[in-house]
Amino acid sequence: MKVANPYSRRDFVALSIAGPLIGWMPWFRPKEIAVGGMRFRIVRNRRSTRRYVLLHGDEEAARQLLMSHMESQRGTAYLIENTTREVEINGGKLDPSRMFSRAGAEASLRTLNPGWNDGQVTAALDVLDSQREKLLDALFPPDRGLLIALDSSAGAASVTDAAAIGDQRSLPQPDNPQAFYWCTDPADYQALAASPYNTVLAQHVRARDDGSLGRRAAARDIRYLHIEARPGDAAAQRDMLAWAEAHLP
Ligand SMILES: [Zn+2]
Repeated sequence: MKVANPYSRRDFVALSIAGPLIGWMPWFRPKEIAVGGMRFRIVRNRRSTRRYVLLHGDEEAARQLLMSHMESQRGTAYLIENTTREVEINGGKLDPSRMFSRAGAEASLRTLNPGWNDGQVTAALDVLDSQREKLLDALFPPDRGLLIALDSSAGAASVTDAAAIGDQRSLPQPDNPQAFYWCTDPADYQALAASPYNTVLAQHVRARDDGSLGRRAAARDIRYLHIEARPGDAAAQRDMLAWAEAHLP
């Protein structure tokens, strides 16, 4: 008696010839990307050069905003899969928003793992060095597309600090320094500077490399927009995201 096989021979033929076409078939694309022990969930909505990223797992409001945004907005979003600000690497901790250069990652590892010796730091840095480009290839958009990062780190950033190391600033809300756009492209800055929100252009950053994604994007001439909101102010972050989507190509 013949045993029922869920895959017919025709399916196997179809799969084997599909190999070169996998890039065209969304249902065959990976659902996540891993770097060291950290994983990013990939959420896609049709073809677009827009990219989105959430780096801090404890920013639940930003995660919800990005997930609902992707229901209507074309593009690809990368959302870190954990619930804490730091991620684990080689049994230690790392701030994922500092992992985009070796120097930035080293500073983060030494701060967060005071008991580590030089060998442990070097081993973790080597893991990051070997996998960083794979992640950047995924995050950085092709064809002058825009990468948007959502962030709301308590006390971590202010527009005053950002402006001090950037090229240009527009400060329509000086009393609200924890909410701002931070962008790398002069044309994007021109558009965003007409918004009701604080905006910094950081095309040439005058400060030590801190390992941030924005710094890496600026160095490679990638259009990058960081949307920083006060922790818990989901409404402001949603409004800033909507304004940017409506006014940036
Ligand atoms: Zn954050």
